[in-house]
Amino acid sequence: MSSQTKYIFVTGGVSSSLGKGIVAASLAKLLQAQGYKTTIQKLDPYINVDPGTLNPYEHGECYVTNDGAETDLDLGHYERFLNVPTSQANNITTGRIYQSVISKERQGMYLGKTVQVIPHITDEIKENIKFLGSNGEFDIIITEIGGTVGDIESLPYIEALRQLKWEMGEDNLIVIHLTLIPYLSAAKELKTKPTQHSVKTLMESGVQADILVCRTEHELNDEIKEKLARFCNVNVDCVIESVDVNTIYDVPNHMYRECLDKVALKKLKLDYNEPDLGSWNNFLDKYKNPKDTIKIALIGKYVELQDSYKSILESFIHAGAVNEVDVDVIPLHSEFINSENVHDKLQSFNGILVAPGFGERGVEGKIEAIKYVRLNNIPFFGICYGMQMAVIEYARNMLKLDDANSTEVNPNTKNPVIDLMEEQKNITEKGGTMRLGAWKCDITRETLCHSVYKTENIEERHRHRYELNNKYLNQLEENGLVASGKNKDTNLVEVVEVKDHPWFIGVQYHPEYKSTVLSPHPLFVSFVSAAILNKNK
Ligand code: GLN
Repeated sequence: MSSQTKYIFVTGGVSSSLGKGIVAASLAKLLQAQGYKTTIQKLDPYINVDPGTLNPYEHGECYVTNDGAETDLDLGHYERFLNVPTSQANNITTGRIYQSVISKERQGMYLGKTVQVIPHITDEIKENIKFLGSNGEFDIIITEIGGTVGDIESLPYIEALRQLKWEMGEDNLIVIHLTLIPYLSAAKELKTKPTQHSVKTLMESGVQADILVCRTEHELNDEIKEKLARFCNVNVDCVIESVDVNTIYDVPNHMYRECLDKVALKKLKLDYNEPDLGSWNNFLDKYKNPKDTIKIALIGKYVELQDSYKSILESFIHAGAVNEVDVDVIPLHSEFINSENVHDKLQSFNGILVAPGFGERGVEGKIEAIKYVRLNNIPFFGICYGMQMAVIEYARNMLKLDDANSTEVNPNTKNPVIDLMEEQKNITEKGGTMRLGAWKCDITRETLCHSVYKTENIEERHRHRYELNNKYLNQLEENGLVASGKNKDTNLVEVVEVKDHPWFIGVQYHPEYKSTVLSPHPLFVSFVSAAILNKNK
C-alpha cells in the first residue's frame, strides 16, 4: 500500500506485565483488517540467546515458529491474532545481538576499531529491526521493546529507537508508550504521576512518545486525559484508554473504539479505512455465548502459572468457540496423581490432555492418568511428552514390558520404547539443538487422525530430542496402537492412536503453536467435540 515500510514502536512504562504484546497484536489486527500488510517484532532485553533454555517459570512458554526459532510467547499472540506465521526475524534478544557482534569482532570485521555499545551494539539492533522491513513485504511493522523504560538492560534498544526515529523521520516511525494509571482506593482517584515520570524517563533518552495507551481499572474521564496530554506532550486524542477486559480477544475492539488505529495512521500519514472485523467478531460472539461447559484436565508439571502452557490454553478457546462450548481447563499437577487417587482426581473430567514437558519429575502420574483414561474411554490428547508417556503406558500395560520407559527418564531401562533420536546422540549444547520447527508428516487413511485432518499431508511444529523407538513399533501395532502419522524421510512416528477408543491421540509435535482465532487447530476442535460427546453420553 505504501512504498516505504513504516514502524510503530511499543514501549512500556510504570510496570511490567501491562500487556504490550496484546496491545501490539490488537493494533496490528486493526491495521491488517483495513488492508495493511502488518507484522510484529519483539525485542527482548535479556542475555539468553533465545528463551529455549529458559524454564517456563522464568518467562512462560517457549513458542516455536515454522523456521524452528525458539521464541518469546508474545509471538504466539501475534500469530493467533494475525493468522500469519512469524519467524526468527520477529524475535531479537540481547544475547543474539551480542553473539553476532562478538562473532563479527572475532572475524576482524570491525577493522581494528574499539567495539562499543554505541555504535556497534545499537547498529546491530537497528539492522535487525530494519531487516524485517527490507524486502517490502510489509506496509507496517510493529516493534515491541520488552521490559520497562528505565531498565538498564533496555537502554541500547531505546537508543537504537532514538536514532531510527531521527533517521526515518516522524512520518515513518512513531512511538506508543503503554503505561499504568493506578487507582488509589483510599483517595478514590486515578493517578497520572507514574505515567508522567515514565514519559519523562523516555524523554531523557531522547524519545518522545507520540501516543499513550493507558492501562486502567476505571475509565479515564476527559479531565485526566487532558492532564496526561498536557504533561506528556501528546495530543489529547492520542491518550488512549485501555480499561481491563475479560478476554484478550476483546482488546482489538476496545482499541478500535478508542481510535488507536486512526491516530496511529494519521501520524504515519497513511489512509484510514474502516477495518473489517467480521470474522473476528463472529468468533467473539461464539466464544462469549457458549451453549454448554466441558471440563478438561491439563496434566503437567508447570501448573501454577498461566503462561507456561499459553498456546494450549488459547487453542482450547479457539476450539471451544467452534464447538460453542466453554472449555474449563483445570491444571493438575502430575506429581500428585497415583494409582490410588487417579479415579477421584479424574472421574469428573470430560477429557484429559497430557502436556509437553522435560525430565523425570511427575512422569509416573502422567502414565497413571493415561492408563485410567484409556481403560475408561475418556478422550485423551497427548502432546509431545504426553504422546511419549502414552507409548510408555501402552508398552507397560498392553505389551507387559514392565520397565518400559524413555531413556530421558531412565537411561538404563531394558525397554527404551522412547529413545534419543539418532542425530541427537552427539549433541552436548543445549540451546537451539532440539528437532525444531515445521516438519512434514504423512497421515494414514482410515485412522482417527485422518478423519480429523481430512488430508494425508500435514506440516506441524516440533520441539523434542526423543522419539518412539521403531524397534518396538511392530509389537505396539500388533497390540492395537496405531502409528497414524509418520515422517517419511526420517521414519519417525509423529502420531499414535488407540483402536477402539472414542478419542485417543498422541502427537510428537505441538499443534498448539498453529491454532489461531481464524484457523482453530483441527485436533483441538475434534478433541473438544469428543469431550462434549463424552459428557452427554
Ligand atoms: N522431553 C521430551 C523430548 O525431548 C518431550 C519434549 C516436549 O514435550 N516438548 O523429546
